[in-house]
Amino acid sequence: MSEELSDLYQEIILGHNKRPRNEQVLDPYSYKAEGFNPLCGDRITVYATADGAGKLDRVTFVGEGCAISRASASIMTTQVEGRTISEINKRIGDVIAMLSQADEPEMDLAVEGDLAALAGVRKFPARIKCATLSWHALRSAIENRSDTER
Ligand code: ZN
Repeated sequence: MSEELSDLYQEIILGHNKRPRNEQVLDPYSYKAEGFNPLCGDRITVYATADGAGKLDRVTFVGEGCAISRASASIMTTQVEGRTISEINKRIGDVIAMLSQADEPEMDLAVEGDLAALAGVRKFPARIKCATLSWHALRSAIENRSDTER
């Protein structure tokens, strides 16, 4: 990765931290879970509503944490909103695997969008938990759903 590209990735992360997408509490909600990363002190709560047809029509978050954890949550909401639960579960698995594997190939910004910028943290193992926190929280939220809607 060139230095220039690293700057671009950093800019994307800082932009999401400063102006996050979908940062709000949902009430009522179908799913909710809190994620905590003791290594860094990041605390993110994820909310989602289901549309009754198996899709999550809103996915939001609130929380305090480092720029990476907040940017990851912001990017996560844009990646999963409007998808079905099974699509989302697959996406969560793919992204966590991608973020956890330092030797994965570079991602294409044009194809993967801001997720490619997030993937840049693979080079900093101490920050990987910051990046995966909101994805783990969404997974817990879906697994421990708060209502009985199918
Ligand atoms: Zn963090």
